[in-house]
Amino acid sequence: MKAAPQSALLARLEHLLGAGGVLTAESDTAPLLTDQRELYRGKAVAVALPDTAPRVAAVLALCNETGVAVVPQGGNTGYCGGATPDESGAQLLVSLRRLNRIRAVDALNYSLVAEAGCVLADVQRAAEEADRFFPLSLGSEGTCQIGGNLSTNAGGLHVLRYGMMRDLVLGLEVALADGRLLSALTTLRKDNTGYDIKSLFLGAEGTLGIITAASLKLYPRMSAAATAFAAIRDPRAAVQLLARLREASGERVSAFELIPRLAVELTTRHIPGVRDPLDAPHAWYVLCELTSARPDRLDTILTESLEQALGAGLVADAALARNEGERAGFWKLRETIPEAQRRDGASLKHDVAVPVAAIAQFIERAGEWVRANVPDGRLIAYGHVGDGNLHFNLNQAPGADRAAFLARGEAIKRVIHDMVVREFGGSFSAEHGIGRLKVGELERYAPPVELDLMRAIKRAFDPNGILNPGKVLR
Ligand SMILES: Cc1cc2nc3c(=O)[nH]c(=O)nc-3n(C[C@H](O)[C@H](O)[C@H](O)COP(=O)(O)OP(=O)(O)OC[C@H]3O[C@@H](n4cnc5c(N)ncnc54)[C@H](O)[C@@H]3O)c2cc1C
Repeated sequence: MKAAPQSALLARLEHLLGAGGVLTAESDTAPLLTDQRELYRGKAVAVALPDTAPRVAAVLALCNETGVAVVPQGGNTGYCGGATPDESGAQLLVSLRRLNRIRAVDALNYSLVAEAGCVLADVQRAAEEADRFFPLSLGSEGTCQIGGNLSTNAGGLHVLRYGMMRDLVLGLEVALADGRLLSALTTLRKDNTGYDIKSLFLGAEGTLGIITAASLKLYPRMSAAATAFAAIRDPRAAVQLLARLREASGERVSAFELIPRLAVELTTRHIPGVRDPLDAPHAWYVLCELTSARPDRLDTILTESLEQALGAGLVADAALARNEGERAGFWKLRETIPEAQRRDGASLKHDVAVPVAAIAQFIERAGEWVRANVPDGRLIAYGHVGDGNLHFNLNQAPGADRAAFLARGEAIKRVIHDMVVREFGGSFSAEHGIGRLKVGELERYAPPVELDLMRAIKRAFDPNGILNPGKVLR
């Protein structure tokens, strides 16, 4: 392996990818060289835009031969800097956006084959057109891509019923570091033939190969939904209400999101069109949704459950969506929380998970610590409470000094992550991955044996270390 002069590399890339397949002008590349949260600003030798899986593999073969590091990029909506090249200017960014065909939809087999650069919302639409449902749903679904979703093992709104991206995959096609193409686009539900190699690429954040296509599981299309925005007594009541709803609906709860008052205040202030669904303010809310493929009595089930919860003191008030517009309004409030946080000022984010039953105790303990120790920050803990996943975020308080607030980020993170992992047996990265941001955290908290195995796998898949170096593992 030897480093290639840039001009020779660019000439070979252009030969492989044709006109329009390689970007070098700053005006084209600049938007791709900063991550979603603007934590990192990288440089790249160029941006490659392969439009077929064999071309992705050929780019990797070239980079492996010439010792050029490769950073795969999907929609660039990731929160951990995984899709941003480093500052050296020597890495090649490989954008998958031209690899965006739906190759097959098989309604009878409840499966679909999509290329890695398909935008998630387009995959959802393709499923719907076949009278089917693809359940992965995230606030970024209009931009993020299937390859990015697979590589971060994305979670989102429907995990409590359908699982994470890992649970929605049947097979993969992957370009390997040495330029071979692994074709395992099976649509089988059962296949116990040795090690499950595909699962290693899920959540690997581009460090073991570049995913070029995936066969995905589909479900019956939903034809009924009942959605409520309910004020609850406290986070403990949320967990109890969830348990009641699961029982009453026969496992038809498809989303159950915890929302604090501050999230309602920030979204109604910063996002046009968002309004508070309830008349009076409350400290905590849940947005819950039941769905069914049949025209069931979901509204009745949800109303009765909420009335009983009101009687039991778990719920203080609730609004049931009366039409699609109101339902969309509730969801807009939930999905624009990250954007409202961004517009409000600096924020410190912690994507943590604890066992569902411990979530209230965690919020109490960690919330108490924040109130006592971070006077210049306001807690905005929200998220997928049905999976025990909280975005335990702090926003800069009004009038607080931005730089001073951000400077305390490391120390605050240490306390929160230590509490999550060591006291609650939880995770410091529930759904956003490691990227560049949390490499040190993985080293701190992962058992040494697990880290050894991860490093051995990395060496086996990428002996020359060209695939997204410095991400996940150092
Ligand atoms: C408003 C908003 C809401 C969000 N909500 C959620 C949420 O609810 N749940 C959640 O899990 N995440 C959420 N995210 C984070 C983000 O959208 C997800 O992590 C998403 O899966 C990233 O997809 P992407 O295509 O943007 O990937 P990118 O950001 O482009 O890349 C992410 C990582 O995957 C690698 N990668 C990308 N494509 C490939 C490929 N084809 N092969 C190999 N590696 C690849 C990159 O190198 C990088 O390491 C949210 C983000 C935003 C902005």
